[in-house]
Amino acid sequence: MASPVRRKSAVVKFNEIYDLLDDLGKGAFAVVKRCKHKENKREFAVKIFNTVNMKERELSKLDREEKICLRLAHPNIVRLNETFTGPATRYMVFDLVTGGELFEDIVAREYYSERDASHCIQQVLDALSYCHERGIMHRDLKPENLLLASKQRGADVKLADFGLAVEINPSGDDHWYGFAGTPGYLAPEVLNHKPYGKGVDVWAVGVILYILLVGYPPFWEDSRTKLYETIKKGKYDYPSPEWDTVTKEAKHLIDKMLSLNGARRISVKQALQHPWVAQRDRIASGVHRQQTTESLKGFNARRKLVGAILTTMVTKRISTLTIDKRSTTDAGAAAAVAAAPKDVVDEVIGATRQLLGAVDRGSWSDFCATCDPDMISILPGQGQQTVKGLQFHKFYFDNYNKAAVARTTLNSPSVKVVSDGVALISYSCVLQEAKPGALQTSSSYMESRVWKKVSGRWKCQQVHRSAVLKDSTAV
Ligand code: ADP
Ligand code: MG
Repeated sequence: MASPVRRKSAVVKFNEIYDLLDDLGKGAFAVVKRCKHKENKREFAVKIFNTVNMKERELSKLDREEKICLRLAHPNIVRLNETFTGPATRYMVFDLVTGGELFEDIVAREYYSERDASHCIQQVLDALSYCHERGIMHRDLKPENLLLASKQRGADVKLADFGLAVEINPSGDDHWYGFAGTPGYLAPEVLNHKPYGKGVDVWAVGVILYILLVGYPPFWEDSRTKLYETIKKGKYDYPSPEWDTVTKEAKHLIDKMLSLNGARRISVKQALQHPWVAQRDRIASGVHRQQTTESLKGFNARRKLVGAILTTMVTKRISTLTIDKRSTTDAGAAAAVAAAPKDVVDEVIGATRQLLGAVDRGSWSDFCATCDPDMISILPGQGQQTVKGLQFHKFYFDNYNKAAVARTTLNSPSVKVVSDGVALISYSCVLQEAKPGALQTSSSYMESRVWKKVSGRWKCQQVHRSAVLKDSTAV
């Protein structure tokens, strides 16, 4: 008798083809990890989404990102190879790029001039021109999404993250595609809720170009409202002395890209023809810009600080109220109010500490031991929905960066007994996080939890976290 034919299951699982390796990056909605093809041993970057709690609309956004990425094959665009859809997870397998972020590389260079900036911008424009020709708008151009192909000198710039990209109306006419982008890079027409088009990408390149030349952004305000007002007015300038050494052609190109009037703004094709880009060797200055790389270091650090906190927040499904650098001890915890019997106060604070500790350590089993299996979570970023059960949280444990050291400090808890064996605790937290090779971050947030004593053990029934007040993620 013939031996049975071994067939691969119809849905070939990602895990059967690839081995997961270390973390490469974390965005607002996905984690990106290195992975290795089991057979040919080639390494790739896989973007992993937790789809457990996604609604139709969010799922269709993933479909859109996939569909768009699969259409794009260009030397300056990160290439998508294949995708997998599981019941709870979506995988997008991209070519691995190993050069890290463009902006991080620039600050490490000993020599950096306008000419280098021009070369970077040309590659971004090349990628964009390719997209725009195919009727695709990126909508989220910013430093985080500009990567380098390798660590080698002169490596190609690679445009990544088509998470907000959309296909343009076939007519090509401006249209309202929704409010999307990242605050500092949003074009005025988007802020004014006007129909828009490819011009929004040009605007964002203008912002990036400005930063590339001096190391700080053209629009920068403490509050979101003020920032938007400044952008809507198109209010930016070229302060002395750092701009004195920038060629007038570079400023001319920025002015054309940051034109308030979308119709008057330079197109990507025209920008590629601009002398500062097309005749780089003759027009763009070759003088080293020490001050730019110095300022850019500060810009990168600020960006990372906000970014790391946010992704940590989203990763752990925690929101932030303020970035608090002061509080580092548990001192405040001693000031528990006496609204509940002392033993209940101590037990509930203890249980809360245990739960937060399990999250810090990334221990799924310890986390489950402190929570009711049907725990209700009211979390920022989940829209009108509450989340029931623990499955949703599991993704973040599975994908938590094990190399990170996290410490959550519980401050000024207040415990109230709701009924016999049921208590409510409210507190503020300071989360400190350190990753190898990255800045230590610190942030605070507010939380309240309902605990119930079940067979002698406190189990968390419900958690409620505050909303994000400060963020720079894609909106
Ligand atoms: P998000 O939509 O969540 O912002 P991105 O696609 O921008 O996700 O990826 C997040 C981060 O992961 C990037 O900023 C980058 O650091 C890293 N990354 C993304 N794609 C790759 C890749 N192909 N190779 C290496 N790292 C990558
Ligand atoms: Mg991104």
